[in-house]
Amino acid sequence: MKTIGLIGGMSWQSTLHYYQIINRETASRRGGLASAPLLIASVDFAPIAEMQTRNDWDAAGELLAGEARRLEVGGAHLIALATNTMHICAPRIEAAINLPFVHIADPTVGALKAHGMGRVGVLGTHFTMEERFYHDRLAAGGIESFAPGVGHTDLNAIIFEELCKGIVRDRSRKTYIEAIKRLAALGAEAVILGCTEIAMLISENDSPLPVFDTTELHAKALVDIALAE
Ligand code: GLU
Repeated sequence: MKTIGLIGGMSWQSTLHYYQIINRETASRRGGLASAPLLIASVDFAPIAEMQTRNDWDAAGELLAGEARRLEVGGAHLIALATNTMHICAPRIEAAINLPFVHIADPTVGALKAHGMGRVGVLGTHFTMEERFYHDRLAAGGIESFAPGVGHTDLNAIIFEELCKGIVRDRSRKTYIEAIKRLAALGAEAVILGCTEIAMLISENDSPLPVFDTTELHAKALVDIALAE
């Protein structure tokens, strides 16, 4: 099995889920006491969150590219970034390494297509919902996507002020369910949980639309690739 190099810590709450899913999948596919060879570069999220608010994607990209290079030198065979938002910096990371970079949106595109979905809603940070980088990646894969259009400030605040700190509130779940209802009213066939912490709040059972969780899909794709010959 290849060694997965994961850039995490954004937030550490969701990196925990990556660690669990990657190892759970590896154990169930390989059996016995198997677990995943995994290198995690877990960064300090505070300075990166400040770079986000300053829109300083050059500094953030340079920092994350440095982490990716460290993982490559350390023996990783593939690299992944455990946050949707920071994929704004994906081109810079990819340019810095000589390894495959597994973009978080790509396994989601694959799963949506496998389920016959072509027009979907995206929930995530305001960067992911409002900037083009994420929608464009989905569009390149043949998926039309859009954000709810209203309530972005609340959705964003719940991510940074609650979920990234491990706080899960019923009233925030209601806010997210309202946003999913709005996506449905706008014609979405499914909702992408386009932030790696949202699955802490919303499950398939809560949602009026089919749910595609980027954390789960990305982590499983990493195992697929690490186990492929
Ligand atoms: N984990 C989040 C995401 O998937 C938000 C934290 C961040 O801004 O990186 O977008």
